[in-house]
Amino acid sequence: MGDTGAMTATTITPPGQTAARSARGSYWITTFGCQMNKADSERMAGILESMGYQQARAEQEADLVLYNTCTIRDNAEQKVYSYLGRQAQRKRSNPHLTLVVAGCVAQQEGESLLRRVPELDLVMGPQHANRLDTLLAQVEQGQQVVATDGHHILEDITTARRDSQVCAWVNVIYGCNERCTYCVVPSVRGREQSRLPEAIRLEIEGLAEQGYREITLLGQNIDAYGRDLPGITPEGRRAHTLTDLLHHVHGVRGIERIRFATSHPRYFTERLIDACAGLDKVCEHFHIPFQSGDDEVLKAMARGYTIDRYRRIIDRIRQRMPDAAISADVIVAFPGETDTQYRRTLDLIEEIGFDQVNTAAYSPRPGTPAADWSNQLDEAVKVARLQELNALVERTAKERSARYLGRVEQILVEGINSKDPNQVMGRTRTNRLTFFAAARPSTDGVTGATWQPGDLVDVRIDQVRAFSLSGTLA
Ligand code: SF4
Repeated sequence: MGDTGAMTATTITPPGQTAARSARGSYWITTFGCQMNKADSERMAGILESMGYQQARAEQEADLVLYNTCTIRDNAEQKVYSYLGRQAQRKRSNPHLTLVVAGCVAQQEGESLLRRVPELDLVMGPQHANRLDTLLAQVEQGQQVVATDGHHILEDITTARRDSQVCAWVNVIYGCNERCTYCVVPSVRGREQSRLPEAIRLEIEGLAEQGYREITLLGQNIDAYGRDLPGITPEGRRAHTLTDLLHHVHGVRGIERIRFATSHPRYFTERLIDACAGLDKVCEHFHIPFQSGDDEVLKAMARGYTIDRYRRIIDRIRQRMPDAAISADVIVAFPGETDTQYRRTLDLIEEIGFDQVNTAAYSPRPGTPAADWSNQLDEAVKVARLQELNALVERTAKERSARYLGRVEQILVEGINSKDPNQVMGRTRTNRLTFFAAARPSTDGVTGATWQPGDLVDVRIDQVRAFSLSGTLA
């Protein structure tokens, strides 16, 4: 239950679905969990393709099946075991099938996963994502491999096979040194390791050359960026911070939008806010988890800030960027949370008026301090609080969406809406999903079909919903 954003299970699916068998065979990746996992999956897909694998048409046809797992919530973990059960059964009749479990469940369970599912070939923690080819070479020699030791992450940025052709995630810091009492991330993803600014900029330049227009700098706690890198400025501050990194990558030609996630209120600085206001490619959207609206609960969570500090951050952002969108993560029914404390969370959501909040009821994760506390709340309380919270989040999001009605918004076109081929989808700078009628791209210049993925277009918003907008090309 880290600062992880929305949790989903996704599969990497190639544009055009052309995949079939190759010399090496075909692969299938299913990804559970957060953006960090999705970014890891894209890199692993790239490595598999550079090894000669091709994307399979369906999981049941694949020669190599990889589950990139998440342990943030119990249901995500249970889902992996049920998926694995099906593949283990398949492997009994097809011994050439290669079965891989990567990500946080792999890191946490390690060898015990092999005992539970002996059909597995490879169990690898998130720090080993860039070594997939080396680990598979060991598997090909007939070994069953477990790679979960603390590992310095290799720079390997050239092979990612990205889902989007327009927006790309760029890892800038791996791991987390915080010790939030509910969170497994530090134990599964290890200590912070920042990438060098030069390597990050090179990756972004490469992305711009490939046609990407938007990048999201990623870190579990992105405000920690650079604190493990050496260097002090003449003014006596750290030479490498997220603010400096934003300045460093801002000039990359071809990149139109820059985002970053996930922010930590403890480390979010005024200097960063001022930089965001001053750098025109940095979008006015801030994802800053607050987790609870009550100071005592925050203390029990070991978050290291108060709600007053959180308010001051939001005030400062809104002073400098009045239209900025604010999103957050929140946990309700944390051990010992009283009804009054829970209501403070609701009050804060009303007061701030969030554009989006990822919500969760507390779920104890093995190996975290809070999991052992005796003041756990009943399931019924968790369900009731979560339901009420979700209704409030939807209402405030809808209220925030109302401000777009009648406005012309700049939309970065991502492609056709997969649920409705008559619509194009993209996002506002503030990260609201936006749809508009698709006039297919044409070359005659007469039909007015003017968009392509990666274009920035002006759309007049004529319908607003809690989490998305619709409009017409202006
Ligand atoms: S800051 Fe680190 S420890 Fe705290 S919730 Fe986020 S990932 Fe987990």
